[in-house]
Amino acid sequence: MFQKLMQFMFGRRGNDELNICLIVVALILGFLNIFFRVFGLFLIYRIIYLVQLLLIVLFFVRFLSKNIAQRQKENDAFLRFLAKFKKSNKDDYNTVYSNDPVKKNKNYKYFKCPNCTAKLRVPKGKGKITITCPKCRTSFKGRS
Ligand SMILES: [Zn+2]
Repeated sequence: MFQKLMQFMFGRRGNDELNICLIVVALILGFLNIFFRVFGLFLIYRIIYLVQLLLIVLFFVRFLSKNIAQRQKENDAFLRFLAKFKKSNKDDYNTVYSNDPVKKNKNYKYFKCPNCTAKLRVPKGKGKITITCPKCRTSFKGRS
């Protein structure tokens, strides 16, 4: 049933990143709310329920809207907001090319870009990080 709903929603005009985000957040909130209900936190439960309803209403308003230009604007603003958030993410390290594998520095860990196979270098000991290839802008996860 859920899969059918997703199939119905995807690939339609008016369904964009913002709408997918709205419905995903609504679903996550609904899942979280099961716990608030079980633990008897009814005030939080009611607030989250209202937010969830609002998200779903927003989703359908945007989904059924004929004003595509306006929806596109909203989605662009949302994507810009996401990009800003990504930029301020401290996990994203600037990577440096290393063309000489012999001169490996032990303070760095070396990765190969899965897209263009460029050699990338990141500082060691940072844990799980997101590496962005400076050549092709591909992001992938790694452990340094
Ligand atoms: Zn690359």
